Amino acid sequence: MSLIADEIITFSSVLKIAYNLLASRNYLKRKKFREKEKLVAVTLPFSDLAFAADTIPVFPIRMHEFEISQYLTYLGSASSIFGWNTVSNFLGFIRNLGINEVSKIVDDIIEDVIDVINKKYNEMYDIGIEYGISTDFCYGLKSLVGMHVSKGSNVDACLNVTIRCSAYNKYLESLQAINEGPKQIWIDIPPRNIGNAIELLTDNISHAIKDFEELTGKTITDNQIRDHFKIGNQVKRAYKNIIYDISASDFYPCNPATFSEIMALLSITFQDYNSNATRYRDNIVSLEKEMRERIRKGIGMDVSNMPRIFVTPMFGGWEPKSHEIIYELGGRALYADWELLQLLEEIPTSPNSNPSEEYARFLMRATETGIGCDNDKLTDSYLRMARDLNADGMIFFQLFGCHSISNCYSMLREKIRNELEIPTTAITFNKIGESIDQVKTRLGAFMEMFK
Ligand code: SF4
Repeated sequence: MSLIADEIITFSSVLKIAYNLLASRNYLKRKKFREKEKLVAVTLPFSDLAFAADTIPVFPIRMHEFEISQYLTYLGSASSIFGWNTVSNFLGFIRNLGINEVSKIVDDIIEDVIDVINKKYNEMYDIGIEYGISTDFCYGLKSLVGMHVSKGSNVDACLNVTIRCSAYNKYLESLQAINEGPKQIWIDIPPRNIGNAIELLTDNISHAIKDFEELTGKTITDNQIRDHFKIGNQVKRAYKNIIYDISASDFYPCNPATFSEIMALLSITFQDYNSNATRYRDNIVSLEKEMRERIRKGIGMDVSNMPRIFVTPMFGGWEPKSHEIIYELGGRALYADWELLQLLEEIPTSPNSNPSEEYARFLMRATETGIGCDNDKLTDSYLRMARDLNADGMIFFQLFGCHSISNCYSMLREKIRNELEIPTTAITFNKIGESIDQVKTRLGAFMEMFK
């Protein structure tokens, strides 16, 4: 088999995930206008109830139009006519274009995808600022406001799950004023697991389910919720396997910069599963298989002598050029935010379980040790993750305007110094691309420690 065929066939699932992300606008329009489905805006990986309610969760940036590379456009149209597995037409197309550097095709496509998304994030950030959001807010919140200002009126509801960060909760509260139309569905997570916190949270989830029933006019059964959890669990299993078995291993199925781009793509798309849970499950499960298959055949790169640099947090905004710079400096960047925040934990689905209560336990676990806990526990989670990944170093992104997660760095540095004894550094971040030179200098000095 030619190299092109091998590249495309053995990595087609990542191309599908990329295509489904970038071609969302048409998909969502079809769902809303032709199939009369309800669109629900979600942020962070909290889309479960929207799926269980048979609505279409959407991370709002996906309602925008993206520039799609010609390969992906062709792949998408070929897939709708011939099915995704028929790649011969796609290969013929590439040959006709006279592309010689075939081994770089997948790398280039994925790199383009991440660039296109990041440009859009910056556009959203600018819209957020123009709208008047305080310059004091972090990058993530400014861009989220921009997404709702520009596209939020298209959704039928917003699913608002509160977390420990008060700025984030203020952003959720502002959504009603940005667009009056969408129904606001709330899940308040009690900040601590004391007393009857689980009961309270179960109640809040039951209310949210009722709100969804009002929105769609359809009853949501426990079985429906469990069925969605089962799909979510399969997604999480594959994602975890990719993090632990592949990203922490010594042989990669592609070069480490592309691998990090794939991890960044998963991190973005995991928030709403590209609006289709079964399709996303199928893609991520085959992505894991494809990666393992390439490794088994020896296709990829020996990375045993490249230090593992755990880069985090990235979900509120980070400099996406970091992994490329780290790669050029001889290392490899590992991304594992959702696992660190305990959002890849599976939810029990036994027939006798109460799914609302199981979901409450899941959200509470994430709150206790990940996304909503105090700095002491949060720094322990960073430490645990670095240890589990066998990291040789850690880069911590300190977001301008973040008074929640970013201020745990000094405690984290202390703990790393005492317990892990690996190098660590912090990089301040305001906007993508804004201080690339400074990032390069910081990373250059940091990577020197591994020589
Ligand atoms: S925790 Fe920090 S990065 Fe996350 S939303 Fe709040 S302010 Fe932004």
